[in-house]
Amino acid sequence: MSKHLTKRADDYSKWYNELVVKADLAENSAVRGCMVIKPYGFAIWEKMQAELDRMFKETGHQNAYFPLFVPKSLFEAEEKNAEGFAKECAVVTHYRLQNDPDNPGKLRVDPDAKLEEELVVRPTSEAIIWSTYKGWIQSYRDLPLLINQWANVVRWEMRTRLFLRTAEFLWQEGHTAHTTRAEAITEAQQMQDIYATFAEDFMAMPVVKGAKSDSERFAGAEDTLTIEALMQDGKALQAGTSHFLGQNFAKAFDVKFTSKEGKKEYVWATSWGVSTRLIGGLIMTHSDDSGLVLPPKLAPIQVVIVPIYKDETQLQAISDKVAMFVKELRAKGASVKFDDRDTYRPGAKFAEYELKGVPVRIAIGSRDLENGTVEVARRDTFEKQTVAQDEVVSFVLDLLEKIQQNLFNKALNFRADNTTAVNSFEDFKTIIKNKGGFVSAHWDGTAETEDKIKEQTKATIRCIPNDAIEEIGVCVFSGKPSSKRVLFAKAY
Ligand code: AMP
Repeated sequence: MSKHLTKRADDYSKWYNELVVKADLAENSAVRGCMVIKPYGFAIWEKMQAELDRMFKETGHQNAYFPLFVPKSLFEAEEKNAEGFAKECAVVTHYRLQNDPDNPGKLRVDPDAKLEEELVVRPTSEAIIWSTYKGWIQSYRDLPLLINQWANVVRWEMRTRLFLRTAEFLWQEGHTAHTTRAEAITEAQQMQDIYATFAEDFMAMPVVKGAKSDSERFAGAEDTLTIEALMQDGKALQAGTSHFLGQNFAKAFDVKFTSKEGKKEYVWATSWGVSTRLIGGLIMTHSDDSGLVLPPKLAPIQVVIVPIYKDETQLQAISDKVAMFVKELRAKGASVKFDDRDTYRPGAKFAEYELKGVPVRIAIGSRDLENGTVEVARRDTFEKQTVAQDEVVSFVLDLLEKIQQNLFNKALNFRADNTTAVNSFEDFKTIIKNKGGFVSAHWDGTAETEDKIKEQTKATIRCIPNDAIEEIGVCVFSGKPSSKRVLFAKAY
């Protein structure tokens, strides 16, 4: 692989793949469709996890852990869910290998070690969790049950992309149980709001909140709420989903509670998840032709300090000076790295941190020591400024906030520039083909029209926005009446 990154305008998809590898976030593995998440990429995931986990706990959820395997009989209990995921399931059929008598030095599956019941590797955990909830829920006093699990799941995806779509991925899945329909719906909405807040305030990635159409709904759900983001190539990314599951799983697993009035009733459910796909979204929202651009709130290193020196004495003098403001910056919560490796030149270090998207770089040389200054460079705009050493702490803390805000504003402007309202199918096709982005259009509400539009343009309904205004209109495709606009886009 060459030293230089492919340009986004030349080949966006190649740019993305190269960037993920060059910035040391992840790489392909020996297993088809499965990735190795490297320490720098995993550090971003840990930051995401920490923040989401805090938000889940703040709203009353607790973490628990359920098995990786789902016995087939449980998996098939909720028919729609089973049918929806069947095509993507990895299945364990045997529990032992043995020496292969025909191939010395090789192993084969022991034919005598066939499982009585096959085990599905979870593509999602509703089945195993609701079979467990049957033992946990008897009375209205046991509700609501607000559980989250951090786990890996496996979906045998045919076309995979690092982070965006992998066969095994890391995620969190919330599974809640409630006494009423209204309470479960409120929970699903609350989690959609939490995801949106996280995306916008931490990832600096603006999202549209909305509901999925019937054909894009989660298998086994009554309603799927989503947050949809727009990537720099004009394609949409489903960044998180929150499902209202009705009583489907309670009925499939016979989970009932005794109400205050002494009546037996089926429990109401939700489930919700975000995955390592978010890292893909983060990369594609902000990064540029020079490499990664990370919002300070999720950057594993927020500030890097590079000393520029000729000899040991100079390095010592710089280190002493730097130690003072590093301590103060850390005390204020910033993650700071002082890169005093003598195995790389400053120029190489600059290039590395640019590629890795470190928001703020401080360079300090012997002239700075004389002048009592440092040079501060920001990754998002490449602007450089000379700052007095005794002001550097407050300057940098302020700058981190400015960068976070600037990235969000930039992404928001991009989305505004790439959202087009259209009133004819001709315009729809032209925009999708030539410009991309979100297309806001009237739709007659039928799956048939949705399918035909997809067939002809590859665009799908990303969501029916929560804030769509009621207006009298006609479907761009069929000319039938429509009461609100929905968002279409080509999607990842
Ligand atoms: P779902 O259970 O299908 O609603 O998916 C929950 C979350 O996982 C959504 O945010 C999806 O965007 C994400 N997701 C689904 N499939 C994959 C995959 N193959 N790789 C990474 N993330 C995924």
